[in-house]
Amino acid sequence: MKTEVAQILLKENFSKKDIINLLSTTDTTEANKLYEKAYNIKKKYVGNKVYLRGLVEFSNLCKKNCYYCGIRSGNKKLHRYNIPDAQIKKSVAYALKNNFGSVIFQSGERDDSLFIEQVNNILKTTKRITNNKIGITLSCGEQTKKTYEKWYDSGAHRYLLRIETSSKDLYYKIHPENNIHNFETRLKALKNLKKIGYQTGTGVMIGLPYQTIENLADDLLFFKNIDIDMVGMGPYIEHPDTPLYNLRHLLMSKKERFNLTLRMIAVLRIMMKDINIASTTALQSIMPDSRKKALISGANVIMPDLTPVKYIKDYFLYENKPCLDEGSDEYLYSLEKSINQIGEIIGYKKWGDPKHYFERQKK
Ligand code: SAH
Ligand code: SF4
Repeated sequence: MKTEVAQILLKENFSKKDIINLLSTTDTTEANKLYEKAYNIKKKYVGNKVYLRGLVEFSNLCKKNCYYCGIRSGNKKLHRYNIPDAQIKKSVAYALKNNFGSVIFQSGERDDSLFIEQVNNILKTTKRITNNKIGITLSCGEQTKKTYEKWYDSGAHRYLLRIETSSKDLYYKIHPENNIHNFETRLKALKNLKKIGYQTGTGVMIGLPYQTIENLADDLLFFKNIDIDMVGMGPYIEHPDTPLYNLRHLLMSKKERFNLTLRMIAVLRIMMKDINIASTTALQSIMPDSRKKALISGANVIMPDLTPVKYIKDYFLYENKPCLDEGSDEYLYSLEKSINQIGEIIGYKKWGDPKHYFERQKK
C-alpha cells in the first residue's frame, strides 16, 4: 500500500490539506520521496542549470522598523552605510568578468528623491558598463508605481518584494501597524510590479514566531494565486537587536526551520513547475553547505554575495550571517565544484529568466 505522501504526490493539484500534510512530513524516507518528485519536475521543466545572481547590498539605511530585521531604523547600534558608486561598479565588473548572468541590488527601504535617483544611476551605469549583458534585479522595498516605472525604464527587469507572510494577522505581529507598514500597500506594490512588466518575485520567512503550518500552506497557495514568477523563501533567523528576539523561546530549532524550508521549496516546485526558486542566504546561514540540498529539493537560483566585505557586517538582517568573501575566486571554485557534484551546471552568461514569465505573457 502506498503511504500518504506517495499518494498525495500522485495528484495533479494539491488541496490545502495535502500541502499541510506534505509540509508536516518529518520522516526522512517520506521527505525524500517529496524531494525526489520535486527534483524530477525541476529537471523536466527548468533543466539542470543553476543561475547566479551577484548580490550587492548597497545600503543599510532604512525608514522602516520591521520587528524581525537587524537593519530596522530603530536599531541605533548599527553603522549606516551607502556604498559609493565606484565600489558598486567594481562588484558589477566582478560579476561580468566571472560570467554571472545577473546581478541583484538590494537595500533598506527609502522613498526620498535622492535614493530614487541613486538607484536610477546604479541601473543606468550597470547597463552601460556591462553593455546590456547582465540581467538586473532590484529589491528595494515598496515604492510608488511611478518609481517602479522609472526604474523599469532604466533597465531593471526583475523585482523581489517578499510579502513576508500572506496572513494579515501574522503580518501585524511582525510589523508595527501604521502607514508605512501596511499589508494592503505591500500587496498593491507587488501587483503594480507585475502590471508594469517586471519579472516579479516574492517570498516569506519560514519559522516565524506564531506562524503555523497552515499559514505556510496559505503562503504557497498565495504564490500560485498571484501567479508569481520567482520565489525566495528562507528561514526566519532571530537577531538580538530586534523586538522579535524576545519571542525566541517560541521558535523551532534551527534544524527544523531548515528542513521545513526544504519542504516548502519542494512543494512549491511541484505546484509551480516553471518558476525560478532561490536558495537563499538565510538558508545557507542556518545550515552551512545547504545549497546543494536546496538545489536537489527544487531551487535553481543562487545569489553569491558580492557586497564588498567591509560593508557586509553592517548588513546583518539576522544573527550569524556568514561574512564570507563570496566574490573571491576560491569561493566560486568551490561553489562550482559542489554544484557539479550533484550533476548540475552553472548557467554562465545566461540571464536565466523564469520560463513562467513568458508563459504568463501568452495568456
Ligand atoms: N528592504 C527590502 C529589502 C531588504 S530586506 C524589503 O524589506 O523588501 C530583504 C529580506 O530580508 C526581507 O524581505 C526579509 O524577508 C528578510 N529578512 C529580514 N530580517 C530577517 C531575519 N531576521 N531572518 C530572515 N530573513 C530576514
Ligand atoms: Fe527595512 Fe527591509 Fe529590514 Fe524591513 S526588512 S527593516 S524594510 S530592510
